[in-house]
Amino acid sequence: MKQINHVYQQRIFWFLSTTAISLFFVLLIISLGLHLTWKARSVGIYNATQEMDNHMQADLEIIRSLAKKHPKKECTESILKSMRIAEFEANNLYEFGVIKSNQLICTTIQGILSPSRPIAPIDFGNEGDVQLTYNAKVHAHKSDVAAMQIKFEHFRALLNITPLPLEKIEWINIGIFTLTGSGFNRVYGNSDIIPSQAGESMNTINRFEKGYWIEEFCIRKTDCGVVSVDILMFLNQERGISLLLISFIFSILMLCNYVTLNLHRKRISYANQLRRGLNFERISLVYQPIYSLNDMSYNYCEVLCRWKDENHKVLRPDLFIEQVELNGQSRELTEIVIAKTISELKEHDLLGKINFAVNIFPDDISSGHAYKLIKKYLIPEFRNTLTLEITESEVDDIESMMKEIISLRQLSVKISIDDFGTGYSNFQHLEKLHVDYLKIDKSFVKGIESKTIRSNLVRHIANMARELNLKIIAEGVEEEAQLIIIKELGVDMSQGYFHSRPISIGLLKKLLNFENEL
Ligand code: C2E
Ligand code: CA
Repeated sequence: MKQINHVYQQRIFWFLSTTAISLFFVLLIISLGLHLTWKARSVGIYNATQEMDNHMQADLEIIRSLAKKHPKKECTESILKSMRIAEFEANNLYEFGVIKSNQLICTTIQGILSPSRPIAPIDFGNEGDVQLTYNAKVHAHKSDVAAMQIKFEHFRALLNITPLPLEKIEWINIGIFTLTGSGFNRVYGNSDIIPSQAGESMNTINRFEKGYWIEEFCIRKTDCGVVSVDILMFLNQERGISLLLISFIFSILMLCNYVTLNLHRKRISYANQLRRGLNFERISLVYQPIYSLNDMSYNYCEVLCRWKDENHKVLRPDLFIEQVELNGQSRELTEIVIAKTISELKEHDLLGKINFAVNIFPDDISSGHAYKLIKKYLIPEFRNTLTLEITESEVDDIESMMKEIISLRQLSVKISIDDFGTGYSNFQHLEKLHVDYLKIDKSFVKGIESKTIRSNLVRHIANMARELNLKIIAEGVEEEAQLIIIKELGVDMSQGYFHSRPISIGLLKKLLNFENEL
């Protein structure tokens, strides 16, 4: 029942992870597509906005100098002339006029108004010295029209911003806003989304809101632009891109599913194959010599198992060991490895002549299984040549582990803590566990010659281990430079491809004879 549940859980896990990965890619690709399409146009929009702003600033200057030149609220030919010149020079302003006691007394087009025309009370937003209003009623020939106006002292002018010289793209909306007393008001464009905050010059904010991808930018604190991209419309209008995106997403989805399903199938298949075929014949052993930096010789090795699947493919433990545990076959494997190691060492006349380490599962110790196996397979005089390697991070119950380790040590078996530094291993536990060896994980040795921060820890670990009277073994030594450094740091033994890859028992024997003769 536990197994069925597990397989079921695995399936859900694969399904969820595939969906999550696919969704991630979908979002990534849509965002990337949008981003690239938008980026290609955004520079143009930004430059055009900047130019529009320059025009506006120049216009404001024109109305300011007009008021400076003609401080009196009156309409003379000279004022009318000045206003007409101003209109000619302005970029976006037209129909300049003079206001006196809420009455428009003359304009550039209509000349002196007689009688003067009252102007409806207008709520001019306060924008520094120049005031702005939106959709104010302006009398135009026969009827009133809504227009934007600006006002400086007694001069006012209508404002008509010329459209930005940009290609019209339906899915992009642009809005240029000015901050007045009543908040942001749009002076140009069709974007209904108003800026979320007044910003500093060039400050750009990106956000998503209700299906829009929005980019805000401010030319100065009071003048900001909003460009919003209607994502659905983008996908609808840019069919080519959408099709490309969809087919790309689809291929990724298929690929993800293919990979994850295959992995899953392989796992299931290994799970079943292991149930049928975890036996003495299918398990083979290789031995990796461990070099003593104190004696400068090989008198120790680690036993590593391999498993032959039904296609006669020999697999390394990374591919099946987890499944062995999930299948509940860890005790079976440990028994096969211990029995086979002893049998091979005996057969090659190496039992008692070399120290050897076997990897076991934490459960083998805490359940007393390891103890029974040693008693069953290893004759007492050779027990002191065996070390059991356990990964301390996997130990759940330190107290019961402590007791079992004491019993094993009474059988003259040594204990080694494997992959030290990768899990939650700590020195407090080590002190309690009374072990013999500490194996520093290969990830610490990697790059030790280039003095990485992680490799600096090796020095620290070595010092602490010495205080606890532990022998230290460095794993994964691949270069001579690494060997020199670990030796300097006081590491006792070295294991890794620099010395030898894991080899068969026959080759191990040859290596030992060769080394001993030297
Ligand atoms: P481990 O105990 O850390 O064993 C060392 C692993 O590092 C071995 O991989 C070995 O081939 C590899 N190795 C050795 N020197 C170097 C080196 O210089 N560079 C690099 N990159 N790798 C090096 P392997 O044989 O694939 O074993 C993987 C793991 O499977 C072992 O890690 C051990 O935890 C587990 N394992 C192996 N045999 C057994 C077994 O019989 N029983 C149990 N329970 N676990 C085993
Ligand atoms: Ca090991």
